[in-house]
Amino acid sequence: MSQPSALELVHLTKRYGDTVAVDTINQKIPGGTYTCLLGPSGCGKSSTLRMIAGHETTSSGDILLGGKNVTDLPPAKRGTAMMFQSYALFPHLSVVDNVAFSLKMKGVDKAARHAKARELLALVDMTTYGDRLPAQLSGGQQQRVALARALITEPSILLLDEPLSALDPFLRLRMRTELKRLQRELGISFIHVTHSQDEALALADHIIVMNGGRIEQDGPPQTVFDAPRTEFVARFIGGHNIVGAESGKLAVRADRIQLSRNKPEARALTAVVQAIEYLGTSVNVAVEAPDTGELNVTVGDTAFFANPLEIGQSVFLSWKPEDAHALAA
Ligand code: ADP
Ligand code: MG
Repeated sequence: MSQPSALELVHLTKRYGDTVAVDTINQKIPGGTYTCLLGPSGCGKSSTLRMIAGHETTSSGDILLGGKNVTDLPPAKRGTAMMFQSYALFPHLSVVDNVAFSLKMKGVDKAARHAKARELLALVDMTTYGDRLPAQLSGGQQQRVALARALITEPSILLLDEPLSALDPFLRLRMRTELKRLQRELGISFIHVTHSQDEALALADHIIVMNGGRIEQDGPPQTVFDAPRTEFVARFIGGHNIVGAESGKLAVRADRIQLSRNKPEARALTAVVQAIEYLGTSVNVAVEAPDTGELNVTVGDTAFFANPLEIGQSVFLSWKPEDAHALAA
């Protein structure tokens, strides 16, 4: 496969009529990384990915790949490849011919392109399915074929738009592991669009959180989860409470709040237990505090059941100063 290439987006903007789908974003993505573009529906993830792929024109701004400006190049000339959510396999072509398709377009002879296609099918663990038609495969198998087909062009960046969303939960976890393994083995960049924070946290070396066409925060998953920069990120990534006044909000992880029956120190909040939800390894305790409203506290199952709380009970909440992260306005 090709050398890993860094990608750089410079003032990248996409407008559809009056809609600004992507609003002047600037971002560097190092080569050879697994990057997730994370955000709610409509925030501009697919538009960004399609501009990188060349399937969508830019309204303004530039896309640099390996230091080269590819903004005006057609998709096949960029060194990128895209795997579509719908897989878009040709129904009348065998698996091998689907995978070999782009090599056929390039005029590679049949023996050579089939040999290469079988190599890619081995990579995605589909060696024995080469002669089948797409309709004779399960959803997960079709996805592997789509992956092999995208990778046969030896891209330096593979672009994936919500690649796991059509799969059932069990298969989704399996393919997730598979994607990560493939990216490591190939050493190229994967840019994976998702609206699932779990997926992004599990897969990414680098997460880019988008909101309303802009980048809200980017960084390693641990940083984005542990220290969300804005209220939007804290709420979207989940597992956090927003506390404090309008002017100076703080995010505190639900599992970093200590819950006690007795007042632990001067700076504890009083609260009343509203709801208790058993989650298996932990218990979520929803409490109402006069000063801050509803908060969620995660208590380990062992600790909780050693001394269970009841709805309506008064409790005290506290946290270490270093566990409170100030949010940008
Ligand atoms: P996401 O992938 O994050 O859900 P999109 O990039 O698909 O977001 O869309 C961003 C915004 O651009 C949305 O408001 C969407 O309605 C709009 N949009 C996307 N594609 C088109 C299009 N082809 N024509 C007009 N508006 C579009
Ligand atoms: Mg989308």
